[in-house]
Amino acid sequence: MRALRWHGKHDVRCDTVPDPIIEDGRDAIVKVSSCAICGSDLHLYDGFMPTMKHGDILGHEFMGEVVEVGRDNAALKVGDRVVVPFTIFCGECDQCRRGNFSVCERSNRNRDEAAKAFGHTTAGLFGYSHLTGGYPGGQAEYVRVPFADRTHIKVPSSLTDEQVLFLGDIFPTGWQAAVQCEIEPEDTVAIWGAGPVGQMALRSALLLGAQQVIVIDHVPERLAMAREGGAITIDFDNESVLDRLKDLTKGKGPQKCIDAVGLEAHATRSLDSAYDRVKQAVMLETDRPHVLREMMYVCRPAGVLSIPGVYGGLLDKLPFGAAMNKGLTFRMGQTHVNRWTDDLLARIEQGQIDPSFVITHTVALEEGPAMYKTFRDKQDGCIKVVMKP
Ligand code: NAD
Ligand code: ZN
Ligand code: ZN
Repeated sequence: MRALRWHGKHDVRCDTVPDPIIEDGRDAIVKVSSCAICGSDLHLYDGFMPTMKHGDILGHEFMGEVVEVGRDNAALKVGDRVVVPFTIFCGECDQCRRGNFSVCERSNRNRDEAAKAFGHTTAGLFGYSHLTGGYPGGQAEYVRVPFADRTHIKVPSSLTDEQVLFLGDIFPTGWQAAVQCEIEPEDTVAIWGAGPVGQMALRSALLLGAQQVIVIDHVPERLAMAREGGAITIDFDNESVLDRLKDLTKGKGPQKCIDAVGLEAHATRSLDSAYDRVKQAVMLETDRPHVLREMMYVCRPAGVLSIPGVYGGLLDKLPFGAAMNKGLTFRMGQTHVNRWTDDLLARIEQGQIDPSFVITHTVALEEGPAMYKTFRDKQDGCIKVVMKP
């Protein structure tokens, strides 16, 4: 089959590899009809995630048709149409029973390595380094889905691939980010990052009743898409984020702040980001926490910081004193995808939201390597790429 594989920093290739096979009775093999490139893939592309190996198959946002089912998997049958959540989960461990699927205790087959890095294991993820299990991803013609009797979302044929594909990642991610804010009717929610996750968080925050949503970025077409979705926008290249956020909240700051940027934050107007870049370049610091610093500083006392943006390691010079003394609440994590998907699928069916609005590019899998670069560099108006294997 054909698959997109990681061969090192900035080196993704479309290669011919062996087809996956059933390895466990709970598995299924899915023939991929659509897959996407996620902002999280860019952290692999840019070489920030350790424990990637040459030849790893990428991709964790994908869907398709079940073509083979393991003998212990009674939940799926050949021909079922499924979206596959990026978090692989067993459905039976203590965490899964509480709905904490992204920290499933059993689905990461490299759980000892993960526990050494983080203190505990986290769930297995598709195509996302060996720290999360080293599972081949879904930017491919076929994928083996482990624990597939639980790790799936069945979708009706009345909806298109484009409408449901993002149930596997960015839609529930934006949704969880907004839910974690515990939005009240008078709240202003400020969202850093107008990428796909920020776009979904914006629409989720409005669906959940926020009075005002402010989105911060510096890419014009992404800011325009946010305004179409109902946001007030701030361009951090041309405006002071802190001043504008204060102005828009009667001097008080937003009650709720969402970091939809993560460890590769840019900031052209601040000294601290130059410091982060130098430290990251010489490997003294693994992440650039510029957005976190801004959020901790500007968030209204007793507010909430919700962090879907991915971080990998050690963060430097965070104003923790400000956060502690202002009594801020931090909520974060990889998304517990299946905790939200029944509700979100119903909302798509009811027409409350159509997540396909975010797609700007639809291409063949063969064009994937070029699209990684286009998406990373925000060329050609690229906001979200869908590939058809
Ligand atoms: P993306 O790279 O397309 O979007 C990030 C956006 O942030 C870009 O538009 C960029 O211009 C903007 N940005 C950079 N620096 C900024 C700053 N200082 N202030 C404001 N905006 C800034 O990626 P995406 O697909 O939207 O993903 C966003 C983040 O969410 C990534 O870190 C990704 O790994 C993470 N993510 C997490 C989960 C999860 O389960 N928690 C799931 C999916 C994605
Ligand atoms: Zn993702
Ligand atoms: Zn589990």
